[in-house]
Amino acid sequence: MRIGVLGAGQLGRMLALSGYPLAKTFVFYDMSGSPSAGLGEVIIDREGKYLDDFLSRVDRVTYEFEHLPVEVAEKLAKEKIVHPSPRALEICQNREAEKTLFSELSIPTPQWKMADSAASLKEAAQSLGCPVVAKSNTEGYDGKGQAVLKSPEDAEAAWESIGHTRLMVEKFVEFSREVSIIAVRAEDGQLAFYPISENVHHDGILRYSIAPAPKLENHIQEDAEQHIKALLNELKYVGVLTLELFETANGLVANEMAPRVHNSGHWTIEGAMTSQFENHIRAVSGHPLGNVEPRGLSCMINIIAEHGDVERLLELPYAHVHLYNKGERPGRKLGHVNILADSYAELVWRVRNCAQFLPGSPEFSSSLDTNSKD
Ligand code: AMP
Repeated sequence: MRIGVLGAGQLGRMLALSGYPLAKTFVFYDMSGSPSAGLGEVIIDREGKYLDDFLSRVDRVTYEFEHLPVEVAEKLAKEKIVHPSPRALEICQNREAEKTLFSELSIPTPQWKMADSAASLKEAAQSLGCPVVAKSNTEGYDGKGQAVLKSPEDAEAAWESIGHTRLMVEKFVEFSREVSIIAVRAEDGQLAFYPISENVHHDGILRYSIAPAPKLENHIQEDAEQHIKALLNELKYVGVLTLELFETANGLVANEMAPRVHNSGHWTIEGAMTSQFENHIRAVSGHPLGNVEPRGLSCMINIIAEHGDVERLLELPYAHVHLYNKGERPGRKLGHVNILADSYAELVWRVRNCAQFLPGSPEFSSSLDTNSKD
């Protein structure tokens, strides 16, 4: 089976790496002009001229990137099986549609309002009560196109700095930590849920994911599963879906979802019986899903901007190094390291040991810092 992947970055690369053992081959369709997947066939098509060519070479289509025109996915879906459906893509591209769907499915969200001028942003900030986070309704990722308003008086400057015509304004959530759940749905409706991960961000970029998230009350995993199950079934979704959440004193609050494999699931490559990438390939190919049980305790460290001392990382007996074959650049994701351990104390020690070879890695701090229980 030849799988067509829309997008050609590191997520596509890791999808292909997990698909080859199942005898899949890959054709990537890149609209950015700078594909980095580095394997399989790549069609570079900045003007959308070679879609028919792409279609003629593949049996099924999926995505590794959600910021592409929905019309492209719709056009492809007329000819070939496209998983997940273009509707899932459309909703994930639009914060208003996404939060509306969350509410319809009784998934808690921050209180929010829409704004389409500096004046309406100010009004929204006043009525929600500051602090609020203003986000471009479309095209935002990794914290880009966002501003925090400490007072309604910040509205003019925030409107200018974001530079979009329509914003979502959210009440600032006082969360104890950020978490995510990754789940997968097969063509026949079979579901599987990975354990929740705790995600540590710096400057809007994910730096560390710990899974299973430490000190997690049982009902939190169950609540997250209920929420993502509602989304998967409503969208008749096929493939991996990620739901990013805030954990608060009153339970989970949904932030956003991604219709694809996710950086906070990279730990599953060595840390789970079946990786998120293999399970996505299984689902979109119409196969049964693989076991999602964790193999132990995992932490993923992102390699950002600089590769650091890769030779030293490779010497560590517990570090699994994944490089994306990309050039160094500020803020750019170049690879990640997966670390497994039998106890959280051992995990913390190993992560700190590893991070010293990654210049620019922020100090590893997580919910394991205080009163750590193994
Ligand atoms: P997003 O692009 O929506 O994922 O937001 C990027 C980051 O901004 C999140 O990972 C949070 O750290 C922070 N953030 C977003 N929305 C809120 C909110 N309503 N309250 C507090 N922090 C937020």
